[in-house]
Amino acid sequence: METLDWSKLSFTYMKTDFNVRSYYKDGKWSAPEATTSDKVEVHMAATSLHYGQTAFEGLKAFRGKDGKVRIFRMRDNAERMLSSCRGILMAELPIELFEETVLKAVKLNERFVPPYESGASLYIRPVIFGTSEQVGVKPADEYAFIVFVMPVGPYFKEGFKTTSVVIYRGYDRAAPHGTGTYKIGGNYAAGMVAGERAHHEGYSAVLYLDAKEKKYIDECGPANFFGIRNNIYITPQSTSILPSITNKSLMQLALDNGMKVEQRQVPEEELETFEEAGMCGTAAVISPINRVDDVEENKSYVISKDGEPGSISTKLYQQLRAIQYGDAPDTHGWVTIL
Ligand SMILES: *Cc1c(COP(=O)(O)O)cnc(C)c1O
Repeated sequence: METLDWSKLSFTYMKTDFNVRSYYKDGKWSAPEATTSDKVEVHMAATSLHYGQTAFEGLKAFRGKDGKVRIFRMRDNAERMLSSCRGILMAELPIELFEETVLKAVKLNERFVPPYESGASLYIRPVIFGTSEQVGVKPADEYAFIVFVMPVGPYFKEGFKTTSVVIYRGYDRAAPHGTGTYKIGGNYAAGMVAGERAHHEGYSAVLYLDAKEKKYIDECGPANFFGIRNNIYITPQSTSILPSITNKSLMQLALDNGMKVEQRQVPEEELETFEEAGMCGTAAVISPINRVDDVEENKSYVISKDGEPGSISTKLYQQLRAIQYGDAPDTHGWVTIL
């Protein structure tokens, strides 16, 4: 077995030993089966290719000091994928099948779970998509569900750091009653032009406003938004935000720390009042924000005067990571030990 240089890992595809698949046909899901091939064969008229019937998940497994492998909030990801299936009329993926397939994929690739000291982790990517032909606009009859995994490096290689984000009024990621609450390919396609522009202009992400009124903060391209003021954790509520499991976890930890939590509409102007702000998601847990530029309005909200992450964001980040790696007790039942 070759040895991997865990310190060199980034967030890029790497072939591991096996991926695990289940197929939906004649109204039934097949038992999950492992394969070494990382290719799939689908019909050229598959609904996933033409009409966007595809959804994915992203979760992680961590190796603790005790050598045990812990998967973080697997059931929540299973529930969210089921919701995505319902949202775009794909065959419903049972929670138990999701969990069984994820566990199998992690077990079969256990040698790719990075050691505790590396700060790296195993990224788990479940994906489901329509495979059968359908030229008229209708849901597919057949689906594939695949779980692959790959080791990924720590998000903050040079330590926990702030970045700037940008508001562009000319792009929307999701409509108020569209598909923003589902983790589906189409939402990512919708955000690519703005996302690339943001990167070219030196920002780490786009901060979207609500599509209808352009008044309230929605979320970042691939991450939820939160702000902190007066010991209150404030995060937007809207009908177009993807419910982040990291955000849900941070809200709980904030409550555990005696903070207040507000999930409500957050007007853009409130950015002026935040002592700290951040993006949150599985990839980074928290990515602290130092500045938000609203370019068309020629406005800039400076959140971190010294450019450093705030103390509460830092504490929440460390607390969540400690649970994931098994360094702190899992009091909310978030962790599945392999
Ligand atoms: C996946 C995703 C997030 C983050 O969700 P987590 O469950 O915390 O990883 C946030 N926003 C969008 C649009 C996403 O697709």
